[in-house]
Amino acid sequence: MLKLPVYLDHNATTPCDPQVVQAMLPFFTEMFGNAASRTHLYGWQAEEAVEYAREQVAALIGAGLKEVIFTSGATEADNLAIKGVFSMYAGKGDHIITVSTEHKAVLDTCKHLEKMGAAITWLTVDNEGLIDLQELEAAIRPTTVLIAVMYANNETGVVQPIRAISAIAKKHGIIFFCDATQAAGKIPLNVIDDGIDLLSLSAHKLYGPKGIGALYVRRKDPRVKLTALLHGGGHERGIRSGTLNVPGIVGFGKACSLCMENMEQESKRTGALRDKLENALSIMEDVMMNGSRLHRLPNTTNLSFKNIDGQALMLHFNKDLAVSSGSACTSASMEPSYVLKAMGLDDELAHSSLRFSLGRFTTEEEIGFAIERVSDAVQQLRAARVF
Ligand SMILES: *Cc1c(COP(=O)(O)O)cnc(C)c1O
Repeated sequence: MLKLPVYLDHNATTPCDPQVVQAMLPFFTEMFGNAASRTHLYGWQAEEAVEYAREQVAALIGAGLKEVIFTSGATEADNLAIKGVFSMYAGKGDHIITVSTEHKAVLDTCKHLEKMGAAITWLTVDNEGLIDLQELEAAIRPTTVLIAVMYANNETGVVQPIRAISAIAKKHGIIFFCDATQAAGKIPLNVIDDGIDLLSLSAHKLYGPKGIGALYVRRKDPRVKLTALLHGGGHERGIRSGTLNVPGIVGFGKACSLCMENMEQESKRTGALRDKLENALSIMEDVMMNGSRLHRLPNTTNLSFKNIDGQALMLHFNKDLAVSSGSACTSASMEPSYVLKAMGLDDELAHSSLRFSLGRFTTEEEIGFAIERVSDAVQQLRAARVF
């Protein structure tokens, strides 16, 4: 028996791996110490566990131990990276280059800085969701302090040409920040090889707990300095004060090491299931895949079902499938996805889109079931349509 609804929304969040939960449990009870307590065993145990987890997180991204700063998640890490650079390097300039398809945590942080006087260049993307490297280089000014481009997009899974972007940033001596929340744990990435200076990631997108994440801050070639957002006890090298979330950090570390161990076979397996789903649904008339076929995550497919409202489609199989639509609920109405619109989809097509994101525990049986339910719903809605 399938557990319903079948969960195909792993880019929104993932369940904790049971091994992650097991690793965390002792740190709620017997080993409850404050990692900053230097005077007794409870504190030492907590600190040791935090440093072990820091190694596990660092290993996933190829970072050094001292370069990993724990935060409450990727939203905070994104804010810390962007505001921290903007404030620290105010003497150099006030210009930031980013992309219109970034996550809200990056977009809205840049919009906020724009109100505070920053100059922001919003790069566009082509119909595959990719940025233009010439447009990027042409946007650079003497006052540019930061280039912020995500590794992989949360809605489409499209992976940007990270190494080419970092080469341009390096050539002009500009700090490169990369939101790698969707890529980390799914595809190999390495801050040295990829030339990334600041990188954010989040535990709950890679089978760890919610409310914990990290910012990688490069320590040499170049040494990146940040102004802190939170002041207090001087935790995390003074960059992020606040008592450490020890159980969360332990779970995050375990989750990273599980991702490292399983990445190759897991991406092959979810990739094959994703392709099966995508191919079966694309056979139907007027179904289009959004984003680069070549440069994307193995677990994600974003499909437009022409002439069908995505919301109506979801209502048809809501009890059976948990997926995301190409529309976002704002306080007043349904807004078409800004990511799909930036790729050239009109409002109607954006509204007719669904994102399917698979994960570690997605089964062949679940994908077979999803294909049936979506195909049925599409056929029913199309048949009911009066022309
Ligand atoms: C989920 C996500 C975030 C936000 O992460 P939180 O840890 O939930 O704050 C930021 N960027 C991207 C690309 C994401 O997918």
